[in-house]
Formats: sequence, C-alpha cells, structure tokens
Amino acid sequence: MQNWKKILKNSITDSATLAKYLKIDKKEINKVISKYPLRINSYYLSLIKRKKDPIWKQCVPSIQEVRLGLGKRDPLLEEKYSPIEGLIHRYKDRVLLYVSNMCAGYCRFCTRKRQVGTEEKVLKAKDVQKAFRYIASNKKIRDVIISGGDPFVLGDKEIEYYLKNLRKIKHVEIIRVDSRIPATLPQRITPELCKMLKKYSPLYFNTHFNHFQELTKESRRACDMLADSGIIMGNQSVLLAGINDDPKALKKLFEGLLTMRVRPYYMYIPDAVKGTYHFRVSIAKALKIMRELIGHTSGLAIPHLIIDLKHGGGKTPLLPKYIMKRKGRRYVFKNFENKLFYYADVK
Ligand code: SF4
Repeated sequence: MQNWKKILKNSITDSATLAKYLKIDKKEINKVISKYPLRINSYYLSLIKRKKDPIWKQCVPSIQEVRLGLGKRDPLLEEKYSPIEGLIHRYKDRVLLYVSNMCAGYCRFCTRKRQVGTEEKVLKAKDVQKAFRYIASNKKIRDVIISGGDPFVLGDKEIEYYLKNLRKIKHVEIIRVDSRIPATLPQRITPELCKMLKKYSPLYFNTHFNHFQELTKESRRACDMLADSGIIMGNQSVLLAGINDDPKALKKLFEGLLTMRVRPYYMYIPDAVKGTYHFRVSIAKALKIMRELIGHTSGLAIPHLIIDLKHGGGKTPLLPKYIMKRKGRRYVFKNFENKLFYYADVK
C-alpha cells in the first residue's frame, strides 16, 4: 500500500483515539461528531503545536458547531443549481463536478459541511456518464472544475478517467482541480500522480492553505512536484475568525505560498453555513485586513477578497475604499499609507 493510503486509512475518526493525542472533552466531541464527522490524519495532527492553535481549530471539533444553530445547510443554493447528480451549474460557461465527498481530513469550517464525510461516497459510474453527456451537449461550458470533497483521495486511475474524458470534449478549454491535499496530506502528491497529470496540461490546480503553519517541508515538496509538472497552482483560502483573521499571519502565508510557486488567488469571506458560524468574519474586518495587506507586500501576494452571495448570487469581489471623493473628473484618493492624493482624470 502506498504511504499516503496508509496515512489516510489510519486517520483518527473517534474521540477515544483523539484523546490519546490531545487534551479534549470526549463528551463534547462525541456530540459534534454524531452530526459532523471527524477525520484527522497523522500528518495534519503533527502540525498542531499547542491547544487551540490555528491547526487545532481547523480540524478538532468544537461544541460551537452544534450549539450555535445559526446559518443554513446550503446558503449558496448549490443543490438548486445542480441539474444532475454531482454537477453544479451556476455560471453559464463553468460547471463543478462533485466527484467524492471524502477528504484527507474534515475541516470544521467546510462550506459543504452538509455533505462531506457523512456517508463516504464517490460519484456513481452512471452519474459520471450523465455528467460527461451533460457537459458534451452544452457547448457554452468551457471550464470544468473537478472538486468535492477532495478529488485527490481518489486513486490515480480514477482521477485520470475524469481528465481523459473531459479532454475529449472539444469545447472544454479549461480543466481545474480543487484540492486541499497539498496542505492536509502532501504525501498524496507522488511522482506517478504528477506524471499522469502532466499529460492533461494545461491544468489549473487550486489548493487551499489557510495558515502559514501549514507551509511545511512536505507541502513545499508537493507543490514543487506539481509546479515542475507544468501545473498552474493557485490558492483559495478562507478568512476564519481566530485562525487567520490577522494581516500579519496572512502576509506570512501569502508570501510563503509565492515561494512555493502557488499564487494566492481567492480569499473568501466564510459562507453562512450551519455548524460553522463561529468562524465568520465581518465584511468590515475583512476589508480592514485587505487595507493592511495591499501596498504592504507585492501585488502577487494579494488574493481577491470574495464574498459568495447567498441564494446563488455568485462570487463577488470586495475592495477597500480608495476613492474618497469625486467631483467631475477630479478624484481624491487615499493611498495605502492613508495619505490623500488628487488625480485629474482624462477629459
Ligand atoms: S478539504 Fe475542502 S471539502 Fe474537504 S472538508 Fe476541508 S474544506 Fe471541506
């Protein structure tokens, strides 16, 4: 058995085992995991440095998940925009394929908390065929995202099956994969996997690091191997209260990612998902954080701040306010150092 499969197989999924490694309240954990499953693999567990640090909070269940009761199961109405099993079609030219509901670890803040890990399953063969037919018959679809759960918990052959069939559809120009594996189980990125992925270039890989403690020798090695295989790497993080809602921590994360050839792409305001409400950060705070990042590090290290509007309103960028006043073609700007500058626009 490959090393990553062993690590995954031996993941912690119950409170008694977790209590051997961390000081936890088993009763509380049991209450939470009867609703939202637990999985922490030994690699990710090894990143915890102290109680309630940013890694702990991302993977160890908290009683707040079941206590608060705020939020919705599916605030983005993904189920409404799912014309067939396993496929979300929200934007005309893009679809998302939900290939598996398993992950290398179950993040406590997950937007798809209603689905991940509950009853572990992959998309059935007949539904996969239906999805390919749907994409092939809809010529407007030029971009397909293979997502989940985490598609990289599947074997190389299963991943290749998706890639091969999607590449046969002429109007599909872009294939993206969304996977948190480089952060949660970097051992999954093997030379064999990279060799296979390379055949399907150009391939966009959006990974998901949230904190600089996740940037390790192993995750660096995984991202290096992917980048060396010609894969274009981006990162989507989520702004999470008590984990990374701090400009200094984010700067360290984003600058670190760039050195791993991973471009910070999106940073999401957390969705109002039931069971994750305690991670929410206000828009005002998120904009303040962006103000402390923009101009204080390279533009390459700045992701787009995104809010995914409820009821399927879509991904919408947010930017701090830089234009303070406008009179005709005369503008007053506040720059990154909060100094005022006048600008006369073209006639
Ligand atoms: S890896 Fe992604 S899909 Fe899986 S639990 Fe974490 S955030 Fe959710």
